[in-house]
Amino acid sequence: MSIKNNLLKIKSTLPSTVTLVAVSKTKPIPDLMEGYDAGQRIFGENKIQEMAEKWEAMPKDIEWHMIGHVQTNKVKFMAPFVSLIHGVDSLKLLEEINKQAKKNNRIIDCLLQIYIAEEESKFGLDEEELNEILHFVQNDKDGMKNIRIVGLMGMATFTDNQNQIKKEFTHLKSIFDKLQLRKDAINRVSTLSMGMSGDYQLAIECGSTMVRIGSSIFGGRI
Ligand SMILES: *Cc1c(COP(=O)(O)O)cnc(C)c1O
Repeated sequence: MSIKNNLLKIKSTLPSTVTLVAVSKTKPIPDLMEGYDAGQRIFGENKIQEMAEKWEAMPKDIEWHMIGHVQTNKVKFMAPFVSLIHGVDSLKLLEEINKQAKKNNRIIDCLLQIYIAEEESKFGLDEEELNEILHFVQNDKDGMKNIRIVGLMGMATFTDNQNQIKKEFTHLKSIFDKLQLRKDAINRVSTLSMGMSGDYQLAIECGSTMVRIGSSIFGGRI
């Protein structure tokens, strides 16, 4: 199957409420262009340097999403162009994004990453840390005017156990629902980024609004 066919096939199965992020990390530009020529305009990368190089080389109507873990000192390299940062997991990082967005005269959309897996290695906040960050952002006198928290992101445990994955996605969805009810706190919380190649159908059943799909579109990574 070609990249184009993979993409069109997946797109045809997604509900209209679900946004597809084509995860192109490690893949060469001609592969991304094949996706672009098939109509894809949102690409996800997990390394800032690689994303910046692809941004420079590719058409400018692409939305670039940073889906990986972000080091504070590298935010400046993507601040001029990134359209959504999925993995925000600390106040320090959020403050740096705000600072760099301001320098670039931009407002950068962010998702707060919630820890839902039963794995030590995955990044993210628990509900209490989430509420602390929201409280700070809400009460910040200077106002973090150059960032916008538009939703949450999470990654389920890497397992074949569908029940466990479902439990983790449902947990994230319940935190998202609570957040959406807090209309006082944040302006526009509409994005729930969950689901990858192996679990996106389940994620959508559990309420995902944005799926991050790589290998099912571009093929496996070495
Ligand atoms: C690599 C990656 C994906 C895509 O994974 P696939 O299994 O190839 O679809 C999704 N989300 C994050 C955070 C990733 O790092």
